[in-house]
Amino acid sequence: MQVIHHGGKDTVTGSCHELRLDDQSILIDCGLFQGADSRNLEIDFSTRNIVALLLTHSHIDHVGRIPWLLAKGFEKPIICTKATAELLPLMLTDGLKIQGLNNRQTERVLRKVKRMVIACEYNEWIAIPTPFKMGVQLNNGKDHSRPNTLYARFQPAGHILGSAYIEVKLPNQEVIVFSGDLGPSHTPLLPDPLPPERADYLFIESTYGDRQHDDIATRGQRLKKIIERSLRDGGTILIPAFSVGRTQELLFDIEQLIYQHDIDISMPIILDSPMASKVTRSYQRFKKLWGNEAKAKLEAHRHPLEFEQCITVEDYRTHQRLVNRLASTGEPTIVVAASGMCQGGRIMAYLKALLSDKRTDVIFAGYQADGTLGAELQSGTSEVEIDGEMIKVKAQLHTMSGYSAHADKNDLMEFVCGIANKPKEIHLIHGVPKTKSYFAKELKKQGFDVR
Ligand SMILES: [Zn+2]
Repeated sequence: MQVIHHGGKDTVTGSCHELRLDDQSILIDCGLFQGADSRNLEIDFSTRNIVALLLTHSHIDHVGRIPWLLAKGFEKPIICTKATAELLPLMLTDGLKIQGLNNRQTERVLRKVKRMVIACEYNEWIAIPTPFKMGVQLNNGKDHSRPNTLYARFQPAGHILGSAYIEVKLPNQEVIVFSGDLGPSHTPLLPDPLPPERADYLFIESTYGDRQHDDIATRGQRLKKIIERSLRDGGTILIPAFSVGRTQELLFDIEQLIYQHDIDISMPIILDSPMASKVTRSYQRFKKLWGNEAKAKLEAHRHPLEFEQCITVEDYRTHQRLVNRLASTGEPTIVVAASGMCQGGRIMAYLKALLSDKRTDVIFAGYQADGTLGAELQSGTSEVEIDGEMIKVKAQLHTMSGYSAHADKNDLMEFVCGIANKPKEIHLIHGVPKTKSYFAKELKKQGFDVR
């Protein structure tokens, strides 16, 4: 058994890991390198012996190189959870637009991917590579009648809708676990990831292996305070947000504030992002995957993601009209729009029209990478360039924590220590070297063999 990393070993993007067993391989994720990691998109490894591609989740840094995998002649099953299968076309469309593919090229890729995808339930052992027998539940993995077959199982990772860590059972019964991206614990919308029973070899992400997140339980109240302060002088509150995960977590918290009458219940909440509204609908379709807190609200006949005050803007003309209206009236409104780092997306028009109005407030709820407009604004600059125009920054800027979709060092440690049968080897992936070496030391202190 050998694991070869084609990306995402010492980086937090470009995830792509090949598990080689004799003369066959399976691929775990095939993601795009982004930002500072950017490099050639071509697949620089042989795909001849790869019998299947397994996806942990639909983020572009885990699925974005699929078109280039297809271009290389890959035509084997793409196996993922049902929710990931639903989000995949959306995420690929969005990602490919940025890569410069035109609509026809994108459609062709999507048609092909659709034919290749095999969507699975969580917690079900799947035989690989026997596509015609896929979906067979194997007596909870205890049926070993086909000794030369690999089995894989998807388990909830709590990162975004459909996200999973993948257990791969080898013919000798050893289990290899690929964590994908793990979510933080105690988020209300998705259940916390539970550790596997067995992981002889654990390949675990370490994005925040050296960091502790702010308390998630208090983030709603912190959001309330910022909204209250922002509304004192009227004006628009802009929240740039990623379409998947963060937008839904924000809507969830805003619904709670409205329910408690913590904020003005007549104030419109605008979701102006066609992609985010599509993703939000997927979250609603997969309610059975929600966490207990979210499910309890449904039982109480509440609608955490589709409440009355939430207005969804789909078409471009309505979007333009709304931007103009808010710029001229300054009426109190909360607008949630992509992109999360203010690099394109509908948030740009709002920023352009409203940044120079001192009544405007911008709430950053996510990490702003170096080189993005979001980071530039956070640095306190007095002027920014949008669409070639210099815009004075008079708006109030706020930074909110508690919305990370990643496990922090404590969550990661709990995940590892919760594995009933102690892993023989732990391999840290999906992290920058400095973070990895910190987390490796912490794991070694607990007696783990970290490679
Ligand atoms: Zn992710």
